[in-house]
Amino acid sequence: MNDCPSNKEWKFSEILADHKIRARWEKVRKYFFLRESTYDMANRCNIRCEGCYYYEGDKQFAEENRDPAAWRELMRAEKARGITYVVLAGAEPSLVPELCEVCFQEMPLGTIATNGLKFIPESIN
Ligand code: SF4
Repeated sequence: MNDCPSNKEWKFSEILADHKIRARWEKVRKYFFLRESTYDMANRCNIRCEGCYYYEGDKQFAEENRDPAAWRELMRAEKARGITYVVLAGAEPSLVPELCEVCFQEMPLGTIATNGLKFIPESIN
């Protein structure tokens, strides 16, 4: 039998008894409601980077859906299954601002993974 503390089975309450750990826990716990999901908004991009994950794989052959109503419906369905944070990705999401706008209206928390070359309207916060 090894009495080394690293072999101890800790209860969560015991871990939180450490005031430094508890302070960190309190800082992040307010974000625990976040449930993230990522979406490829367009199969186009305004540049070509060497080794781009999108154009190296099969994603580039996916058909685009440019119908804002379909994206709104998708976002509502995603909300219903518990998603609270969206990542709008590529290829290049700034090429479809009308779709990003709809996503933002339905799911205001998230990130847009853009290369930054095309301005994204500020209304998409
Ligand atoms: S900007 Fe992004 S999506 Fe476009 S080619 Fe570069 S890595 Fe790929």
